[in-house]
Amino acid sequence: MVDTSPSEFSPDDPDAVAPRLAAVHARIQAAAKRFDRDPQTIRLVAISKKKPADMIRAALAAHQIDFGENYLQDALAKIAALVDTDAIWHFVGDIQSNKTRDIAANFTWAHAIDRFKIARRLSDQRPDGMPPISICIQVNIDDEDSKSGIAPAEAETLAAQIAELPNLRLRGLMTIPAYSDDFESQRKPFAALRAIYDQLNKAGHKLDTLSIGMSADLEAAIAEGATHVRVGTDIFGTRPT
Ligand SMILES: *Cc1c(COP(=O)(O)O)cnc(C)c1O
Repeated sequence: MVDTSPSEFSPDDPDAVAPRLAAVHARIQAAAKRFDRDPQTIRLVAISKKKPADMIRAALAAHQIDFGENYLQDALAKIAALVDTDAIWHFVGDIQSNKTRDIAANFTWAHAIDRFKIARRLSDQRPDGMPPISICIQVNIDDEDSKSGIAPAEAETLAAQIAELPNLRLRGLMTIPAYSDDFESQRKPFAALRAIYDQLNKAGHKLDTLSIGMSADLEAAIAEGATHVRVGTDIFGTRPT
């Protein structure tokens, strides 16, 4: 068993990435088995925010291709440094209007859309010749003041609006639930999101994505149908605050 504990490596040591990735994959496999899921239907998005390009290269060398970023300027520098690779870029953070142009030009996915205005700008600004941006609507499932995301009751209206935009493809839902370290409590908000997802598909949408689960709750997310788990710390180590 490889020791992947944080103390084993300095925070930004690229050599730490492959063993930690393997440990995260082992968790995904074990959870898939436990909850009778096909592990092939669960994609790992490695959240590389605030981490250097050489760590991302180390992950690419270990066959990781989906990467999530949250800070635009930091992300653009790394995307430019890694143009020679097959990396697929996911913007997982909240998006301000002044950032839509760069996101539309550089990212394949946006996971945290909660306003039509931002969705419309992304569609309008997607450069000609690029495929539609894959979009997840972020739902504030626990109704927390501190979190972004649309209220559950408004998700269907926003989904219908986004579905009309030509350069976006509505893929599914994302949430970041209130913190809990109890497995059964972690499942509840994910189950509630799953219910909204099922309702949207009944209404005629063709959603295929539940972007749920991070380092601390990926097993609960897989139990409730996660198709994309977003893991940062357990792959790249702790981030500077
Ligand atoms: C930072 C971040 C993550 C990863 O969180 P970890 O706890 O480091 O695994 C996942 N999703 C989003 C939206 C994030 O901003």
